[in-house]
Amino acid sequence: MAGRPEQKAQFARWLVAVPAVAVALGGTMLVAPYVQADVSAVFLAAVMFSAWKGGLGGGMLATVLSSLVRAFFFLPPAYSFTLDATGVEELAIFGFAALVISSLSAAREEATAREQAARVEAENANAVKDEFLAAVSHELRTPLTTIKTLTRILQRDDTTDDERREYLGDIALECDRQIDLISNLLDLSRIRAGIVTVTPRRVDAGVVLRECGRAQSVGAAERGHEVSVDIEGGLPDVCADRDALRRAISSIVENAIKYTPDGGRIVLRARSDGAAHLALEIGDNGRGIRAEDVSHVFERFYRGVPDGGPDSVRGGVMPGIGLGLYLASVLVRGMGGEIDVSSAEGTGSTFTVRLPVWRDDVDLNVDDIPHETAVR
Ligand code: ADP
Repeated sequence: MAGRPEQKAQFARWLVAVPAVAVALGGTMLVAPYVQADVSAVFLAAVMFSAWKGGLGGGMLATVLSSLVRAFFFLPPAYSFTLDATGVEELAIFGFAALVISSLSAAREEATAREQAARVEAENANAVKDEFLAAVSHELRTPLTTIKTLTRILQRDDTTDDERREYLGDIALECDRQIDLISNLLDLSRIRAGIVTVTPRRVDAGVVLRECGRAQSVGAAERGHEVSVDIEGGLPDVCADRDALRRAISSIVENAIKYTPDGGRIVLRARSDGAAHLALEIGDNGRGIRAEDVSHVFERFYRGVPDGGPDSVRGGVMPGIGLGLYLASVLVRGMGGEIDVSSAEGTGSTFTVRLPVWRDDVDLNVDDIPHETAVR
């Protein structure tokens, strides 16, 4: 049923053969009394025109109509549809011409469609780039403005020691934010150039999880979040790159802090996941992720569809450029692990990083475990 309108449009295109052959017939009739020449070329032109405009169907319809008209009016015996040898020869030539011209026309249409698709893709890429540049500029400018304002305040003589300490702490935090942003941007271009590597070794994932919790505790406390770390007893070590793991987990924890309203709960958990894997979970009771966004959050620059729908400005009001989860997923996959998220809008999200358990019998130089792997 869905193909009906398309079939109708296709059939309408073939009908171009009718006026084309009618024009050829009319023109031939007009000039025939004055010109003693073979007029089959006029019909051949009608066939070629129909094939160009109406495709193979149009060309074949024009071929049949032209042959009938030629047989009836111009070829002996007159006023009969009988085809003599000349008529059959013409039919073959018209048919062949229709085939060639319709193929050329189809190739041209395909090239045009490809060109249009490429143009739309380029326009979309440009729009994403513009959005990205705007977000990066905003993200770079906001901390700088804060730093500038606080520095001006510190230059005054009337600030107390406590205020100085507080403002200097704020400046340090804003500097960290800038450094993180620039590191993410650098990582992105280094990943694209294939020069970010991970070197899996024996790592105590619980220790890394605790470190990440501690490192984010100031940011979490500022928002009134309660952060707890829950590590199952007797967990085996994992095969991972310690630094890459720390960066991936930190990004996820930073998001949990950012996307959870003040006074939220964030839980960092490590547990075994079957005999061969260990699962690190970062759960929050924040705003959650919409069903339509869940499958996209690990994509580069994806920031979620804001309340105004897919066409409004992306990302809403939260600071960010949509790189944290993308970089985390690239690093985790590079270590031979997996990352995913389960989330419900309004109730919170849980990100899970699964890593292979360390095996003593594995020789990192020869085994299938990634060794100094460039991540992409
Ligand atoms: P950014 O935070 O800079 O936008 P990320 O790649 O870190 O980029 O995250 C992508 C998107 O995933 C975010 O914009 C947000 O919409 C969603 N997201 C990530 N973590 C959470 C979370 N814990 N709770 C709700 N949404 C989240």
